[in-house]
Amino acid sequence: MSFLSNQQLVIVWRVYEPCNLGCHFCEYRRDIVRSRIITPVEDIIRFGGILSDYKKKTNNQVLVNWLGGEPLLWKDFMPVSKALNMNMGISLSVTTNGTRLDSQEIRNVLLENYEMITVSVDGFGDFHDYHRGQQGLFEKVKESIKSLHLMTKNSSSKLGIRINTVLMRDNVGNFETFCREIASWGVAELTINQLGGNECDDFFENNRLLPEQAEWIDKELPRIKENAIQNGLKVLGGKKYTERMIATSRNVSIPVDDCVAGRYFLFIDENKKISPCSFTSKEYGIPMDKVSSVDDLLKLPLLFKKLKGEQYAQSCMDCHSTQVFDKFER
Ligand code: SF4
Repeated sequence: MSFLSNQQLVIVWRVYEPCNLGCHFCEYRRDIVRSRIITPVEDIIRFGGILSDYKKKTNNQVLVNWLGGEPLLWKDFMPVSKALNMNMGISLSVTTNGTRLDSQEIRNVLLENYEMITVSVDGFGDFHDYHRGQQGLFEKVKESIKSLHLMTKNSSSKLGIRINTVLMRDNVGNFETFCREIASWGVAELTINQLGGNECDDFFENNRLLPEQAEWIDKELPRIKENAIQNGLKVLGGKKYTERMIATSRNVSIPVDDCVAGRYFLFIDENKKISPCSFTSKEYGIPMDKVSSVDDLLKLPLLFKKLKGEQYAQSCMDCHSTQVFDKFER
């Protein structure tokens, strides 16, 4: 199943704010004093029931992707996964830093109940370990992914393994070699993000892609994709996405008027607000408790449109929502 299609509703759900790593660019890193909210299981089960009814009523697939913090630290990860997937027929995926993939219990749940796992790996050992704040992390994650791949191959599991990499000034030069490396681990897909942030942030300013690097990606990605596929790796992302990268690197805004908000994609934040993307929870966020039926869920696109008309979010004037820009195009 692709990550975004017209017959599928994708929900990216931040359920678990705590984290065990110190990634330089992340606002959830362990050393930051901030909220560390964990979504109560009963709220997830209640909303999962609505998603399951939505699936039956519309015949659309529903894919829920857990986001953190680090969701594989979540003590309720296993029971919640089983309840949503086995009892409610919801497809699942998870975005993880990979530190818990050495747990056999977690691997079993992934193999049985998950469609996709996305592991964050930004480059080779020195680079990854330095920016993620843990010595030896690259090797550990590599070994875990390799064994997970073997287990998948030797079972009837439909689990796909994807890596997401954050492109920065100092890892873009190794990108092609990196693609070859992860293809040899059995990784099926690679997605990319360029480093995000704002101009007041020193880390962002010193590490963001330079315009010529973003242009290089734009020009070379089709070739890199073709070469990667020979090694069994699909590198995702279309022209629209690399053009978004160039614009960001040059501080050029891309306003988006109609992102078909709420039709195929929803974001739920740690405060249980449902919005069209992770950037607009404040302006367009609808409390999850207000959605109590499939009809309420189906009304969300109209509600978002109305809210957009009333209080247009600054973020829409320079939209950075990757799904709007075909991050997942094959
Ligand atoms: S930021 Fe982009 S995806 Fe989010 S609501 Fe605005 S236009 Fe849509």
